[in-house]
Amino acid sequence: MMPRIRHVAAVVAALFLITVAVAQEMPKDQLPLWSTKPDVAAFEKMEDARLAAAQGAVDQIVAVKGSRTIENTLAPFDEAVRQLNAAINFSTLMQQVHPDANFRDHATTMTTKVSSAQTALSLNQDVYHALASLDASKADPATAYYLKRQLLEFRLAGVDKDDATRAKLKKLQDQLTDAQSMFDRNISDDVKTVEVTASELDGMPQDYIDNHKPGADGKIRITTNYPDLFPALDFAKSDALRRSLWEAWTSRAYPKSREVVMNMMQTRYEIARLLGYASWADYNAADKMMENGANIAKFINQLDAATRPVAQREFAMLLVEKQKTDPGAKEIKGYESFRLNELVRRSQYNFDSQSVRPYLPYAQVKKGIMDTAATLFHVNFRQETNVAAWDPTVETWDVIEDGKAIGRFYLDMHPRPGKYSHDQMSPVLDGIRGKQLPEAILVCNFPQPTATDPGLMNYGDAVAFFHEFGHLMHHILGGQQEWAGISGISMEADFVEAPSQMLEEWMRSPQVLASFAHHYKTSEPIPADLVARMNRASAFGAGNSVELQNALSAISYDIYKEDPKKVDLDAITFGDLRDYTLFVPIASDAHFYANFNHLAGYSSAYYTYMWDKVIAEDFFQQFDQKNLLAGDAPMRYRRTVLEPGGSTSANDLVKNFLGRPQNMTAFEHWMMREFAPAPEAKTATGQ
Ligand SMILES: [Zn+2]
Repeated sequence: MMPRIRHVAAVVAALFLITVAVAQEMPKDQLPLWSTKPDVAAFEKMEDARLAAAQGAVDQIVAVKGSRTIENTLAPFDEAVRQLNAAINFSTLMQQVHPDANFRDHATTMTTKVSSAQTALSLNQDVYHALASLDASKADPATAYYLKRQLLEFRLAGVDKDDATRAKLKKLQDQLTDAQSMFDRNISDDVKTVEVTASELDGMPQDYIDNHKPGADGKIRITTNYPDLFPALDFAKSDALRRSLWEAWTSRAYPKSREVVMNMMQTRYEIARLLGYASWADYNAADKMMENGANIAKFINQLDAATRPVAQREFAMLLVEKQKTDPGAKEIKGYESFRLNELVRRSQYNFDSQSVRPYLPYAQVKKGIMDTAATLFHVNFRQETNVAAWDPTVETWDVIEDGKAIGRFYLDMHPRPGKYSHDQMSPVLDGIRGKQLPEAILVCNFPQPTATDPGLMNYGDAVAFFHEFGHLMHHILGGQQEWAGISGISMEADFVEAPSQMLEEWMRSPQVLASFAHHYKTSEPIPADLVARMNRASAFGAGNSVELQNALSAISYDIYKEDPKKVDLDAITFGDLRDYTLFVPIASDAHFYANFNHLAGYSSAYYTYMWDKVIAEDFFQQFDQKNLLAGDAPMRYRRTVLEPGGSTSANDLVKNFLGRPQNMTAFEHWMMREFAPAPEAKTATGQ
């Protein structure tokens, strides 16, 4: 686990630069990321300069004679954090987006180098003791909170332990890193293939059949890669095909990774014990909203209780569907649920997802999302022109408030060979009040419009766009802190998804969608009843999908909640799937842990997704449901949830906005939307 080390600004520098912050433009010394068009050598020079500056700041802390102050100790510490964050943000970005493979390789090497400097800082005893001796009693609350949290991160890294213990921790951390990369590699290396005959593709869409022509031996090969796997689970009439694909998919990296997972469990358990925690789950929760493992177990039970009635109601509908071809059926197997869901959606909800795409050409969606965000967050966006970038499609934008720039972002939105293939927001620079404006980037893979192709997006892509844009706004609006280490999205890791999950709701509003989703041929706004049907259809299955997520949260927790010697991986995996979902697992499901990739990164914290969804829906109910952009909720949300960044605990952010801790009521309401009465066909619902 990478300890959280983020940055801050020297007070003297902050005073000196304060005039820059009131200028209309971006500060003159804060040029766009790629403005010098660096080659590999220049890139490495820029990065090495950041590493040297970080080391200089660390030396400065150690060299202090006499009494320690926030200015002579926390300020240079934060400067080291600022430099290291900027360095690793840049190198990981170049790994993902640079068009030249050689550049990407050098960027990967640089990431390793910066990462080891971060680790060294997290284990630096001199720096720890210097920070620990600071008196924060007269500091402002954000500074005091930063210091307290940073000291916790240091202790979670084991910096205050004796030499022998630290040496042992270092060895365990290295073992864990190796086991994690082996776990990931075993999964990505093990793409399985199922051989079928042409008749077994009955039910599949024509383009799928066209893309899967028989080989010379007459066999058709279907892999466990997602674009092959999920359409087959959704549409194939052949139960044998769906079952054998499911068995192949759930058996990836098995039995190879059984040992690797046990290794990760054992290593993590030893780390937790050395640091004074009863289990890895307790240790891993210590710097999160959840605080300890028992709270994870409690949440899983509460979520199950809230979800079960909804899941049961859906299950009854799925069973009726199954009984059409299997009259005596009483149970549904996990792999069967995909196709049954699809059949119910088609027969009960009168919605074809293809019908929405003509309303979503990329250029309009981009403008619509930015306009919506501008209205919601009370800012403007202004494009910087003639800015150099690693690819000509990359755009550079300033975020403007009251005529002043408060941040900058980049959009790298379309696929290219060798580019990172998912969608994500990455911080570029942490915002430090008066010293450095926050910068961020979206790296996405949406269709690229051309002279002849409007670049129609899937609805899910449009939702993903706003989700990622939400992370970006969080980083920018939370980037006006005094310290880099509490800037932007630096708060507890199990809160970060809540704001973006909430924003997904805006993409379900007929009114918001109608403002930009106009048919690319007729310019007709998307009809409100189409949006309503889409919302109901896509809501179907919410209960069972939450129960599946909850089963995965339980697996992630149960595997790490105690001494690994007491854990039977197959029994836990099979048992949690059986106990938390309403579907019957098959034998191969017991091996799913071998390819459940989040057991490496999230480890015991897979609950994060559902935890944040509960918070997101509670937040959402604070907004005017008739007009999501109106009233005082948007600005109150910006001020109380986004702007504080990581300057206070996320549990307080929640309470400050809601006036109480989150509860399940709004989440239950969200799950039940699939059972709302069907909309009447009418022309307009909004004003
Ligand atoms: Zn996200």
